[in-house]
Amino acid sequence: MSETRKRGISIGYVPTMGALHQGHLELVKTSMAENDYTIVSIFVNPRQFNNKEDFEKYPVDEKGDVNLLADVGCDALFLPSYAEVYPAKTQAIKIDLGNLDKVLEGAERPGHFEGVVQVVYRFFELINPDVAYFGMKDFQQCMVVNTMKKAYFPKIKLKFCPIIRENSGLAMSSRNMRLSKEGRESAANIFKVINTVKNLSKHIEAPDAIKYGLYLLKNKGINVQYLSLANSDSLALSNKWLKSGKNVLLIAAFVEGVRLIDNIAF
Ligand code: AMP
Repeated sequence: MSETRKRGISIGYVPTMGALHQGHLELVKTSMAENDYTIVSIFVNPRQFNNKEDFEKYPVDEKGDVNLLADVGCDALFLPSYAEVYPAKTQAIKIDLGNLDKVLEGAERPGHFEGVVQVVYRFFELINPDVAYFGMKDFQQCMVVNTMKKAYFPKIKLKFCPIIRENSGLAMSSRNMRLSKEGRESAANIFKVINTVKNLSKHIEAPDAIKYGLYLLKNKGINVQYLSLANSDSLALSNKWLKSGKNVLLIAAFVEGVRLIDNIAF
């Protein structure tokens, strides 16, 4: 890549775990529109799975992924082995994630963000992109990566891109592949309900709106792990609506045993 760099060409990078869908492809297209050269990586990072079964059941579709990337005209696909990503004797980097590792995904998935930090650090080191693209579907992950980037890669720009949804509102996710048709229909309630909670912010207090949201989801048979309001700058949890533009409602819920996350910022 150093030749490309010498010629003053900008490199956009999209890290993924594969089983690509339109949400990933929008990141790729944005990178292609903004850079001379776009690289996608596919690596199902075992170190960010706190749950062995989730890792083992993570969907893999290498052939389908290659075809989708070729169709959009992506320049390069990096499909490294575990040993390339984690050579023996490499030291795990240390970073204080503060609050980010203690709330929501940090609290529910111990070790998850440590794994995310290690893998993104390593890919940034290997690829050294000008710009890296992440989806706001993983809202907390965007903040974690930003913390790591500020500490170790100040020159790399990060772009956080909007959540791409099915027509039903369901946030696209590789994990949706594990849902039945009924499961997908049921999962669409996740976004519908967080949108309802957001709309209630004009009328009732946050804890009451969230309680109502939890009631609606329970009625739809959705098993909620958390539905919380936080400050979108710090992810500090809040039991009061914040000023316009600072609210983010985040949810993790199980449908047919598949753990799904979503959020809405307003
Ligand atoms: P993953 O393969 O799930 O690790 O995701 C790779 C990247 O794609 C991450 O930055 C995700 O946030 C992003 N992504 C996944 N799903 C979506 C979506 N529905 N909309 C936007 N970005 C997404």
